[in-house]
Amino acid sequence: MISEKVNQIGASPTLKISAKAKAMRADGIDIVDLSVGEPDFPTPENAKAAGIRAIQQNFTKYTENEGIPALKKAVLSRMKEDYELTYEMNQVIISPGAKASLFLIFQVLIDEGEEVIIPAPYWVTYPMAVALSKGKPVIVPTKEENGFLLTPEELKAAINPSTKAIILNNPSNPTGAAYTKSRLEALAEVIQGEDVFVIADEIYGQLVYDDFEFRSFASLGEDIKKKTIVVNGVSKSYSMTGWRIGYALGPAEIIDGMAKVQSHSTSNPCSISQYASLEALSGQQHEVSRMVAEFQRRRNYCLRRLKSIPNISCFEPQGAFYLFPNFSAYYNKEANGTVVRNSYGMAYYLLREARVAIVPGDSFGNDACIRLSYATSMENLEKGIDRISEALAKLKIPKKIRRVALNNTVTRVKKSVPVEATVTAKMRDALVAEMDGHLTPENYYEWNANISGVIVQLRTNVSHLSDFWIENWYPAQLEADLEPHGIIYAVDGIVGREPRVFYNSETKTGVIVNSDNYGPLRSLALGMVMDISERLFGGCAVRGMSADAGGKGLILVGPPGTRKTDLFYGLLGDNSFRLHANDIVFVRQSGGRVSAECVERKLYLPTNTVEVFPRLAPLFDNSKCENIVTHKEDCRDAECLRRDDCRLDRGSLFCYKASPEAHAMLDPYWIGGKAAHTKRTELNWVFLLRNDPISPAAIKLRKDEALRILEAGESAGAKKALSPAKPQPYYNPHLLLTTEERLELQKVYFDRLLDTVTCYLFNSGVAGPDEIKKIVLV
Ligand code: PMP
Repeated sequence: MISEKVNQIGASPTLKISAKAKAMRADGIDIVDLSVGEPDFPTPENAKAAGIRAIQQNFTKYTENEGIPALKKAVLSRMKEDYELTYEMNQVIISPGAKASLFLIFQVLIDEGEEVIIPAPYWVTYPMAVALSKGKPVIVPTKEENGFLLTPEELKAAINPSTKAIILNNPSNPTGAAYTKSRLEALAEVIQGEDVFVIADEIYGQLVYDDFEFRSFASLGEDIKKKTIVVNGVSKSYSMTGWRIGYALGPAEIIDGMAKVQSHSTSNPCSISQYASLEALSGQQHEVSRMVAEFQRRRNYCLRRLKSIPNISCFEPQGAFYLFPNFSAYYNKEANGTVVRNSYGMAYYLLREARVAIVPGDSFGNDACIRLSYATSMENLEKGIDRISEALAKLKIPKKIRRVALNNTVTRVKKSVPVEATVTAKMRDALVAEMDGHLTPENYYEWNANISGVIVQLRTNVSHLSDFWIENWYPAQLEADLEPHGIIYAVDGIVGREPRVFYNSETKTGVIVNSDNYGPLRSLALGMVMDISERLFGGCAVRGMSADAGGKGLILVGPPGTRKTDLFYGLLGDNSFRLHANDIVFVRQSGGRVSAECVERKLYLPTNTVEVFPRLAPLFDNSKCENIVTHKEDCRDAECLRRDDCRLDRGSLFCYKASPEAHAMLDPYWIGGKAAHTKRTELNWVFLLRNDPISPAAIKLRKDEALRILEAGESAGAKKALSPAKPQPYYNPHLLLTTEERLELQKVYFDRLLDTVTCYLFNSGVAGPDEIKKIVLV
């Protein structure tokens, strides 16, 4: 629904954390908010009065698109007075905040795929804004020991022919690091010889301490000025964040482009705010000096306090109002059962344990640190640091060494792939020859699986597929002497081919091209085994979730949306039931009995099952996994995102429920030992599921009714509209071949099966596991 580019970005973490802090305060919690990104001083009186005057004088209409001339002039005067920089009126634009200026610059400068160098730690908005303009953010880390400043060597190494611009935030949010004149000159020397622009975000330029001499990058010479776009605004220097006035100065052509974009977006910045800002910029500047003196006092206090906390290092910033201390010595430590693993975990821990809001360094591109803002009262700072220091003292090395590393393989292909199941013998030969050409001795895995007595050989160049294959199935005995019943080639890395599955029934050959995901391989193997075993042994496969109660088996069969998983794990929560199989069983009939077999040694289980069966989580920790989500960007759980309750944000390294495509190879015996799992059961009941609010809970079906529903494989009941799953004959997506002859065979088998088992149409919309128990446990 939402575009790719927006899907990539997250909301501003500072705003999110501040919102959380505000909400906690509203709940009566005494929270200290050290996450804020704005000065805690009032807007200067003269600016406020000018705003009011503007309203009285009816300056409340659209203004010039690029800002009122008087304000533009005032900006030019400030540039002249503060930095000895001369600009013309067509070289300046006023916008609704420096943030808006930056967005305009990216719109004007960046074509799709062009690179923008962003030194890290960076202000969170830069990479997002570049990505939204379809540019490519190139993050260049700076070092704490270099004072978080970009060196000329690092800059030079990062520039390439695709580089369009570099962002230089001086002084920096979040580190407060500022560049001296000589450091700027060294960077300018590199820029001089390159065809790149410098976006100089100097919004904290006025807020520098200890007589630090701030220089604007554009003031380093005429050549550099031509390549520089200076960004500034009234938010920080005049404590006017809510008024939303920023500005940019640079080459006339770029400013003109920005004005065009602005004319189609915000038209102009707020007229009233422009008059207020005019007064702020051109009036007395002593409020700024007062603010700077107070920030310096607070910075010194915080630094002294932080440095006295054991194992914390804190870089001494020259500007802005942030500290960026390194808290990593406290990672992987534990208090009250919570292990703090990273800066997100630290932020969450401090919020809960210390009732202090800070911003995790990871959101600025440095996970070792956290950002503290000292734009709050001395009293708050004292209280906040006291609390942080107490909370840190509680963090201890965990007693039990817990496994942190997941055994997780991320595959390129995530979902099912298209299947062509009616490949001719000729095409099969050509495909096999092609596959053989790609299987080199150095990269070749082969293993015979015994799936319900059918031997299937896998030949692959994907070690992950081989790994999962060996975990999933029982081995075929005497491998060397066996002639497999069927062969599967799974070959990845063939240039120019789409992911595809092919099957030739005559020769029982399957071919998987360019899919490294285990799902399609398992599905093909099952389809192939069904095809073989139906003819060989006269058995059939039933797709569903099966359990055993006292030697008698039941199977739940139904399309997505019929709450199969809920019902199933609901039953397993009762000790009377043993897990049989989670996806498919193979059945054979003899002497009036139906023997059902779980053919898988380990179960390929979607890990989001933890939602209904939390007991599985520690078992997944020790299983081989596929596509477990480790980054929030990959999360597919809209519900969690909506509630803004993400365990990855709280410092977890992974989430089992974030994606329906994440699987684990679970040993079913781990769930409850021998007593809780059986490989064989005698099938007694088939529950065909539907989910609607009105039908009766359970109806016993006549054989012909059951057969018709099974054959149609349709979604039953009101949920149909919600889950328009394609009808699948016999609810079986692994069927592979759906030729008429094959379906006729299926019909014969199910017809026979239904002679022996009892079939119910069960409505999960009105009934739960207890109703099934009533039928089964008599
Ligand atoms: N640049 C930096 C480095 C900032 O920290 C901020 C505000 N947090 C801005 C720009 C945006 O300021 P404005 O309020 O003018 O949009």
